[in-house]
Formats: sequence, C-alpha cells, structure tokens
Amino acid sequence: MFGTIPRPRPRPPASLLEIADLDKPCVPAHDLEEWIRATFVEDGAALYNEEHIHLLEARIGVVWCAVPLARHMLSVVGQAEIPMARGNRWAKARHDQQLVEWFGVVPDFLLTFDPMYAAAASDRAFCALVEHELYHCGQERDAYGAPKFKMDGSPKFGIRGHDVEEFVGIVRRYGASVGAGRTADFVEAALLAHDIDEPAIARVCGTCG
Ligand SMILES: [Zn+2]
Repeated sequence: MFGTIPRPRPRPPASLLEIADLDKPCVPAHDLEEWIRATFVEDGAALYNEEHIHLLEARIGVVWCAVPLARHMLSVVGQAEIPMARGNRWAKARHDQQLVEWFGVVPDFLLTFDPMYAAAASDRAFCALVEHELYHCGQERDAYGAPKFKMDGSPKFGIRGHDVEEFVGIVRRYGASVGAGRTADFVEAALLAHDIDEPAIARVCGTCG
C-alpha cells in the first residue's frame, strides 16, 4: 500500500514511445492505477476528492494505448468506459478473457491513456486529465439524486457525462448564463482560485522535488 506517500507519477513504458514497436500498442498500467488511487481516491490522498468516494469499491483497470485516436476533430488522450463487448458470445468471451489476463477480473471501469501525451504533459495537465476521466466514473443516481446501490449493497456504477458541452462562440456571443448544461457554474469555477495549485501537484507527483 502506498497510502499518502507522495511519489513520482508512473511513466508510460519506453516501448510505446517508439514508433517502430507498435505490434503491441496496449499495455496494462497497474502502477498507474495504484498511483491514481493513492493520489485522488484513498482516504488521506494528497489530492483527495470526496466526489470519487464510490471508487473505493470499484475495480479499475488502466491501460496505455499507443494508437492515435481522434473524435469530433479533436485528438483523444484519455478515455473512461464500462467494459462491454460488442458482438456475439464468442466476441464477449475473447474480450473478457483479455481483460482478465491483464487485471485478474473484468473491471468495473476501464481507463485508457495516450502514452505520447502522458510523456510530454506537465504534472498539472496530467493530473487534470486523470481526474477528468475519474469524474466520468460515476455512481448512478435515482430520480431524487440519491446514489444507487445494487442488491449486494455495492454502488451501481455508470458513466457520468460532462457538466458542460457548449461552444466557445455561444458563450462569447450570448454569455455563460444561457449556455448549455452547467456552463455558468463552469465559468464561475474558472474565475475562482483553484483548489489545486502547481506546488501541490509538484509535491504529489514528485518530479519537481
Ligand atoms: Zn470526458
């Protein structure tokens, strides 16, 4: 257990950063999963966020994937999903077996990160990316907003959407108050002092001292 001990953030394996070796572009990142838990999720974590408390009970698999991905004309550098095979029962068997070989179980959430981006990102940018993906790893809510649980008492997990999906041009032309979703809250949060500043991240990630 790593508890609250700050330590350097895990780096992607060198084999994924070399263009020549892409026969095996996916590598499970057990060290990154431990670091994520120790940094954001566990009690006493240096960048602890109580909004992730349900993840204490979640099985999380983390993978580096060196295949470049783009969506909506933007490059994707991180992704959170609930593993779900598409296709018939044989396709599901192959899919689940791969995950079990990597993680010992089919995890509740699968996080994928781009190793090229991670290798170049600052600690602050990488922490923001990881927490962005953690925010997607949600717990379902009932009609009254209360968290949902399964019959066995464990959290009912689900993928949480973004709080804001709006165009910069709409905010520029009409203002944040009529923006979609929680645009106004988003702008307000951006104008406040941030909870996590650069020195705090440097301490946690260990690369600056
Ligand atoms: Zn997202």
